[in-house]
Amino acid sequence: MSQTSATPLYEAVIGLEVHVQIKTASKMFTRVPAGFGHAENTLTDPVVLALPGALPVLNKQALDKIIQAGLLLGCKIAPVCKWDRKNYFYPDSPKNYQISQFDQPICIGGKVEIELPGASRNVMGEHTHIELTRIHLEEDVGKLNHGSVDSLVDYNRAGTPLMEIVTEPVLKSADEAFAFLTVLRTIMVQGGISDCDMEKGQMRCDANISIRPIGETKLGTKVELKNLNSISFVRDGIAHEIRRQIAVKTSGGTIVQETRDYDGQTGASQSLRSKEMAHDYRYFPDPDLMPVKVDEDWKTHLRAALPELPFDRQRRYFEQYQLPYTLTAVLISDAELAAYFEEAAKLSGKPQAAANWIANDLLREVSAANTTVAESKIRPAHVAELVKLVDDGVISSSIAKEVFVEMATSGETPGAIVERKGLKQSTDTGELEGWVRDAIAANPAAAAGFKNGNEKALNAIKGSVMKASKGKANPKLVDEIVRKQLA
Ligand code: ADP
Ligand code: MG
Repeated sequence: MSQTSATPLYEAVIGLEVHVQIKTASKMFTRVPAGFGHAENTLTDPVVLALPGALPVLNKQALDKIIQAGLLLGCKIAPVCKWDRKNYFYPDSPKNYQISQFDQPICIGGKVEIELPGASRNVMGEHTHIELTRIHLEEDVGKLNHGSVDSLVDYNRAGTPLMEIVTEPVLKSADEAFAFLTVLRTIMVQGGISDCDMEKGQMRCDANISIRPIGETKLGTKVELKNLNSISFVRDGIAHEIRRQIAVKTSGGTIVQETRDYDGQTGASQSLRSKEMAHDYRYFPDPDLMPVKVDEDWKTHLRAALPELPFDRQRRYFEQYQLPYTLTAVLISDAELAAYFEEAAKLSGKPQAAANWIANDLLREVSAANTTVAESKIRPAHVAELVKLVDDGVISSSIAKEVFVEMATSGETPGAIVERKGLKQSTDTGELEGWVRDAIAANPAAAAGFKNGNEKALNAIKGSVMKASKGKANPKLVDEIVRKQLA
C-alpha cells in the first residue's frame, strides 16, 4: 500500500457474513435427505418444490445444532424462535420466498476468539475476540446451472438448513478474517454442527469491507465481496479490496456502495451490482410455522454434549502438560486426535512423549495409509506401551520407530512385535563386550583418536556396535564398555 504523508492514512473495517450448512440427515422443513452429489432434482418432494398444499414441518435437529453453535460462541439464545418469509422472485426458489429469521434471530451477540499470527514455540500467540451480531437460521436455495442457451435449475440443495453468522464490523485485516474463519470452521466441525467443506459449499463467506482515515470513528462506505469459496480466497479478496479502495481514495475518487465479485484464480474483482438495485424483501412471519419456545432444560441438555473450545483446550495443554506450541497446535486441530492424545497421555503418564509420537509418527502413518486416526490400528494403549518400553530401556528409541511403523500395519501391541522380532535391547554384558571388541578392532584410527583426547572419535566405534547389533545394543552400556576397553 503506497500511502504518502500528504494523504491520510487509512484503516480497514471488515464485517463477515458466513453461511454454514448445518449437518442434518434431512432438510429443514421436510424429511427428504439433505445431500451433495446426487442426480439433479432427486432430493425433492412437494415441500421442497412448493407444490400447492404442501406444509413445512420443522427439523428439530437443525434447531438443536444452531442453538449448540450459539452456546459454543457465547451467544444469548432467544427464548422464542420464530420464522419469517423473505420474499423474492428468482428461479432458485420454487416458493418465491425463503424461510428465514428477520427481526428475532435465534442467537444474539457472542464472540469468537482468534489467534493472530506470531505464536512461537513455547507460548501461545496474541489472541483477540471478534464480536458477533447474530446467528439466524434459514433454508438454502436451489442451484442454477447456466448453459450457453438456457439455464437449468437443480433443487437438491433447496431447503437444506443453513445458519448465517454475522460479525460486527470489527475485523481489521485480511489476516484477522483468515484467522476468524479458520477457528470458526474448527469449532463448527468439532461441535458436530457442520463439516464446513467449502468445496461442497458447506461454508460460504461474504466480506463487507470499508476503509476510513485513521482516527475517524464513523464507518466508511462498504463494498460487499461475494463468491469467496475458500478461506485463502477470502483473505486474498479482502487484501485486494482494501488496496483497491485506498487507491480510489488517494486518487481523489469516492467509494460506491456495491457488491463485487472476486476471482480467486486471477486475483481481480469486478462490480456485480450497486446498492440502488437493493431488494425490498417484504419480510413477514410465516403463517405455516408456529414459533418454538426454547427453555432452560433444552439448552442445558444441548450444552452437555458440547466439546471444549479449541483455544481453551490449547491453554489447558500448556498448563496441564507443558507441551510446546507446535505440538498443542497440531493436537487441538482435531477433536478425535485430542481425545486420542489425552487417553495416551493418561495411560502412559508421559504426556510429552505421547504427544510427540502422536503428532509426528501417528499422523505420518495415518496419512501414508490414507486412513483416519479413528480407523488406525494403533490405539492409544499401544502408544502408551511403546513409551513405557523406551522409558524402561527395553528398546531403543530408534527401534521404537521401527515398532511404530510395524504396529500401523499389523495392529499388534508393541510388546508382541518386540518379542516376535527379537528387538529387545541387549543388556547382556558378554554380548556387548564382544561387539565393542570387534568395533575397536575395525576402527583403529578412531580408537587412537580417542586415546589422544578426541571425545568425538568414540561415535565411530559406538556406531559400528549399533550396526553390528542391529540397533539392539543398549547405548548407555555400550558407552561404558567402550570407555572401559579403551582405558
Ligand atoms: P446490510 O443491511 O447491507 O446487510 P448489515 O448492517 O446487515 O448490512 O451488515 C452486514 C455485514 O456488513 C455485517 O457483518 C456488518 O458487520 C458489516 N458492515 C456493515 N457496515 C459496514 C461497514 N461500513 N464497513 C464494513 N463492514 C460493515
Ligand atoms: Mg444485513
